[in-house]
Amino acid sequence: MKIILSHDVDHLYWQEHYFKDLYAPSTVFRNTKGLLKGDIELKLYFKRLKCWGRLHRLPELITFYNDYNIKANFFFGMNNALGLSYNYKQSKQWIDKLLDKKHQVGVHGIAFNDKESIIIEYNRFKELSGLKSFGIRTHYLRMAKNTHQLFETQNYIFDSSIEQIKKPFKLNAMWIIPISIMEVTLVNNAQLNQNIELWKANTIDRLKLSEKENIPYFVVNFHDLYFSNNFPVIKQWYIWLIDLLKSKNYQFINFEDAVVELNQSSF
Ligand SMILES: [Zn+2]
Repeated sequence: MKIILSHDVDHLYWQEHYFKDLYAPSTVFRNTKGLLKGDIELKLYFKRLKCWGRLHRLPELITFYNDYNIKANFFFGMNNALGLSYNYKQSKQWIDKLLDKKHQVGVHGIAFNDKESIIIEYNRFKELSGLKSFGIRTHYLRMAKNTHQLFETQNYIFDSSIEQIKKPFKLNAMWIIPISIMEVTLVNNAQLNQNIELWKANTIDRLKLSEKENIPYFVVNFHDLYFSNNFPVIKQWYIWLIDLLKSKNYQFINFEDAVVELNQSSF
């Protein structure tokens, strides 16, 4: 089993949310509830309520991966919906920077059942990145009956929008490589859940199950936003996870190389 690390870039800056969506009020609401319930301390509460400046943690992750000598995949939105509100052109500088550091990038799909919108997002990303082939993961893992069919027709080389311990499978030329673990579904109320032992125990369970099911790729989805001291437990968990995987001598691979392997294999 090899490890694929991936990141959905849902946010760039606080400003993109002002007067556009409910991200700021829902952040205040969620954390006030957490504070009153005693889930988070006052200091952390105030830190999280600073609703301006940068939200993404791409420079921190680039440095982290540089130190660990690991390459990862990053998905960027090419349109807006459900709290993803940045202008797609703003992702250009980060796409360039990540490609320069030999990471891989793909589309964080907004459209999932409308052919015209899928074409627009594909073309925007193709132009912005200069890439000829790439994959996709939908925002909030949205999926309709015909989503994979539409993505395949659009020439995406893989989709990773399903969360399930399951082997990759193919639809014509496109591989569907499921997510094995992601922070927001690993424990209840991930942003407020400070029980690091629970985070670790659930992770070990997921790893064991994946080994038992003999899946070739353990796909981690981690929202870059959480690689921050505003989310000390989630950040600590992620660093622990990478250390654990390294100590167990797992090999890291990215989606594109996995697709090459899959095409050569007898799956
Ligand atoms: Zn997303």
